[in-house]
Amino acid sequence: MATQSLTLQPSGHKMPLLGFGTWKVSKDTTANVVLKAIEAGYRLLDCACDYGNEVQVGQGIKMAIEKGIVTREELFITSKLWNTYHHKEHVPLAFARTLKDLGLDYIDLYLIHFPISLKYVPFEELYPPEWGNMEQDPVPIHETWAAMEDLVRSGKVRDIGVSNFPAILLMDVLSYAKIKPAVLHIEVHPYLNNSQLIKFAQSKGLQITGYSNFGPASYVELGSPTAQNAVPLFKEERLSKIAADHKKTVAQVILRWLVQNNVAVIPKSSDPVRVAQNADIFSFVLSEKEVEVIDGMNIPLRLNDPGAYANIPIYA
Ligand code: NAD
Repeated sequence: MATQSLTLQPSGHKMPLLGFGTWKVSKDTTANVVLKAIEAGYRLLDCACDYGNEVQVGQGIKMAIEKGIVTREELFITSKLWNTYHHKEHVPLAFARTLKDLGLDYIDLYLIHFPISLKYVPFEELYPPEWGNMEQDPVPIHETWAAMEDLVRSGKVRDIGVSNFPAILLMDVLSYAKIKPAVLHIEVHPYLNNSQLIKFAQSKGLQITGYSNFGPASYVELGSPTAQNAVPLFKEERLSKIAADHKKTVAQVILRWLVQNNVAVIPKSSDPVRVAQNADIFSFVLSEKEVEVIDGMNIPLRLNDPGAYANIPIYA
């Protein structure tokens, strides 16, 4: 399978354009799902403390390496700092826990998961703490960022970045970063194309990873009314026509639309047929007209909004 990659400016390391998402993969299936994804050709795994399955992701990685499918160096592992660990003394603790759970001695990319700082929850009390008791405990982002930079200096993280940051906070980080953010990780799908933010971040030298590429699909199962009321992208007529014209699926067309714009994708599925299908996105090209049609589907419809589910309106 052709793997294409983006160069991360701060380190010069390459990040695959195609990755595999691990949010909501159940603990009991994760190790095997990860092994199968690596077997199917995925080289980037998108993980997080918050997903509660890093131990099992680590088991999948170990199996793949032991079977000789890949070496550690051929994989690109991303993880994320959770909201309850933004204080400078908690950043290395949270990172060390992630590293231990994954069974690795370094990770490729560590992101601040949200620009939201919540009260610290000790590991022995609850791990992962999810949204905890929602008590906010403001920490300036420069404090968290400096602690992230120390992780790079320790040699255990190759690049650092941010997730769910709007442009204004990105400008803030860029104003003091000694080690620049390599990646901005944000929700991107045809109903929320985030084109302004993507262009801005790319112009500042960041690479983009788009998450929840299939839009409502991931949020219907969480009971989100916004997702339930939207036309599923897999049934969207314009996308279906483009897919039929290329003899591809709608999922492949959406992923192709993103990678063609240098946005890395991280689809999640536990179904081997879909896992293989989602990886086959480098064998066709969308025309400019087709890209324009998909660009025109922007509503914008944001599905992952802490303002809606945690009463912390970071996009207000
Ligand atoms: P997704 O867009 O990858 O969609 C997953 C849903 O689509 C599942 O219901 C799956 O069964 C279905 N699906 C997958 N492939 C399909 C196919 N070919 N045909 C039909 N249906 C298909 O959703 P996601 O899990 O929200 O996002 C992907 C990854 O992004 C996550 O697993 C996680 O790693 C990351 N993520 C990050 C954040 C963040 O805040 N940084 C937030 C959400 C997700």
